[in-house]
Amino acid sequence: MIISMRLGATQKEIDHVCERLQEFGYKAHPIFGVERVVIGAVGSGENKEQAMESIEAAPGVDSVVAISHPFKFVSREGRAEKSVIRVNGHGIGGNEFIVFAGPCSVESESQLLETAEAVHKAGAHILRGGAFKPRTSPYDFQGLEEEGLKLLRKAKERTGLAVCTEVMSASEVDLVAEYADILQVGARNMQNFNLLKRLGKTQRPVMLKRGMSSTIKEFLLSAEYIVTSGNPNVFLCERGIRTFETYTRNTLDLSAVPVLEELTHLPIIVDPSHATGKRSLVPAMSRASVAAGADGLMVEVHPNPEKAFSDGPQSLRPADFAKLMQELRPYIDLWKVARTAAQRPALVRNA
Ligand code: PEP
Ligand code: MN
Repeated sequence: MIISMRLGATQKEIDHVCERLQEFGYKAHPIFGVERVVIGAVGSGENKEQAMESIEAAPGVDSVVAISHPFKFVSREGRAEKSVIRVNGHGIGGNEFIVFAGPCSVESESQLLETAEAVHKAGAHILRGGAFKPRTSPYDFQGLEEEGLKLLRKAKERTGLAVCTEVMSASEVDLVAEYADILQVGARNMQNFNLLKRLGKTQRPVMLKRGMSSTIKEFLLSAEYIVTSGNPNVFLCERGIRTFETYTRNTLDLSAVPVLEELTHLPIIVDPSHATGKRSLVPAMSRASVAAGADGLMVEVHPNPEKAFSDGPQSLRPADFAKLMQELRPYIDLWKVARTAAQRPALVRNA
């Protein structure tokens, strides 16, 4: 269950609720938000109904909601309104379809600036690009690290696009957060729990990518780590999972989009580039992602894919990307109609 304390509830009232929860056999996890304190009660206490009634009657308590899922704070049961993460004037999870685009790796100033200008012109909202690269082989390009972050800053200054880039370890969170508007957790790090906990100590928006062998439950529990550690500004990215199929790099689990829409209030974007591994498949999977109701897309773009240091085969050329943005227009128009018709109440967060 989740207990929302009243605005201005005292520490004594909070402690009292935590003690009562323990008496009923629950573990209490208070989260001190900017406005109010919310307490997550985890475990299978014995008399759940009695416990809920008793806690509801305790001083300082506003409401008590039963949550059946193991992920409490990210669950829709606890909050019906979708979270909207505000970045550079855009709302991820709101009534605008957000497109992230850019190279897999930041390779050089000219490569990044050329790509940034092209994707900006084509209508992307956020520039992506890896400076710290999690590569399967130790012999592959590992990223320009801080020099890459500086180039991302330059590209932001040049285009006005907010920047999303990966952080691979807890010790690098402060450094990457100095340059990035959005901190990306890559698929390989989805269960790097120290990193997740450390990301809870910043308020910078975090894009959590689904681990390639992770279930939806594991995915949401990883998001729960960040939120319970103190950072509610989290959104999810479906990037394909590993199946027996080898024709595509991964299998895009598009059903994850409506499943996550049911289970969580966190926004969800789709990465058709890593999901398919093939440039030719990116447009169809992008259209399908819009139709499935995703909140946005992340697409890899490179000015010269044959010479890319990483993920060339799945990278669109700038002209392909501009064409894709044009093709997506009618789909996004319909998406907007559906969004507005749904009139989902949204909780807007200013990160
Ligand atoms: C990336 O976005 O460049 C990346 C490495 O993706 P993933 O973690 O999904 O493999
Ligand atoms: Mn990549």
